[in-house]
Amino acid sequence: MKNGTNAPVLDSFSRPLRSLRLSVTDRCNLRCRYCMPGEEYQWIERSEILTFEELVTLAQVFIGLGVDRMRLTGGEPLLRRDLSQLVAMLREAGRPPHTKSNGSSPWAPVPGLRDLALTTNGLLLAAQAQDLRKAGLDRVTISLDTLRPDRFRALARYGDLDDVIAGIRAAREAGFDALKINSVVIRGFNEDELADLIALGQAVGAEVRFIEYMDVGGATEWSRSQVVSRVEILDRLRERFGAIEPLNLQFQGTAPADRFRLPDGTTFGIISSTTAPFCAQCGRARLTPDGLFLLCLYARQGLDLKRPLRDGASPAELGAMIVERWQGRRDRGAEERRSLRARGPLFQIEDLRRDVHLEMHTRGG
Ligand code: SAM
Ligand code: SF4
Ligand code: SF4
Repeated sequence: MKNGTNAPVLDSFSRPLRSLRLSVTDRCNLRCRYCMPGEEYQWIERSEILTFEELVTLAQVFIGLGVDRMRLTGGEPLLRRDLSQLVAMLREAGRPPHTKSNGSSPWAPVPGLRDLALTTNGLLLAAQAQDLRKAGLDRVTISLDTLRPDRFRALARYGDLDDVIAGIRAAREAGFDALKINSVVIRGFNEDELADLIALGQAVGAEVRFIEYMDVGGATEWSRSQVVSRVEILDRLRERFGAIEPLNLQFQGTAPADRFRLPDGTTFGIISSTTAPFCAQCGRARLTPDGLFLLCLYARQGLDLKRPLRDGASPAELGAMIVERWQGRRDRGAEERRSLRARGPLFQIEDLRRDVHLEMHTRGG
């Protein structure tokens, strides 16, 4: 634990606990085939889902341990009622002590919550962007993999592409200037749309980040042959735009994306989680909507923080549990997966049915 020393909490490979993904709901209004391919799902009981107060209590403990970046995810986080209220509560909880309005927290959040972000499919963003901004959200990432309505419908099965685009524009108008668009690239689906996605980014003032298709959670149809590697993405873009300049900004920002620049100055990123994973520098923890603390996107088990929280554990006791877990952390899921000779989907449908916590839409991407 920090114990006032400001020393970060380190895992077994000296990776500091720095960022937290808060999955605020397992519900979603889309059914993207690489994430939720099933027809029916079992949901976490509503009574098991952490309240805003519980989420903030845990978030404060993490902040006190050195977490300075948080991302709200899901499921679809904008389905969680009054999400902007949670944003405001997290903002308040994450202020450095001298700017805190009540000034009485036993935790010394140093340096406090520096970055609060959201990942969303964008469908409900137009209606909520202003409120989220006013509540203190710093950044928004919108997931969008195709600009063709027929493909969108085939992939996501619900929703309307125009609503996503309207959501991106509304976020821009609300003042989110560090907008990002995340696009998972899948062979045979959208690898011919890379230039179009870049053009959309230019039109709406967002930076596109191409993500390699991962064999996580609900990706029960995953196969290696469908992965379009970072090398191939760059080759395709070079063919279309000419020379590409690497910006070598890996890990200088808040995301593990390698960034590049096209001849006209447009920047974009690639997250090569499958062919060149970034586990060696990963300081990312996750919390499921029902309070399971996970050390890795690929983790098969986690630590239940909801039970002790509801049984009255103090912030110090919760902090000690988190520290113990993190200090024992040896997870490097994507690197281990990469070294497998025969690599197929991580889970089968039956595994996911047995434990909803294995799902990507429960643990958040
Ligand atoms: N519903 C929100 C959204 O789609 O932005 C937030 C949750 S979603 C699980 C977070 C991110 O995970 C999305 O950008 C999605 O594209 C990504 N994702 C889901 N399954 C994936 C997979 N198999 N490979 C790569 N990215 C995936
Ligand atoms: Fe829902 Fe996001 Fe998963 Fe698509 S990727 S099904 S929008 S949680
Ligand atoms: Fe971090 Fe696990 Fe992803 Fe590797 S696979 S980068 S350890 S979350």
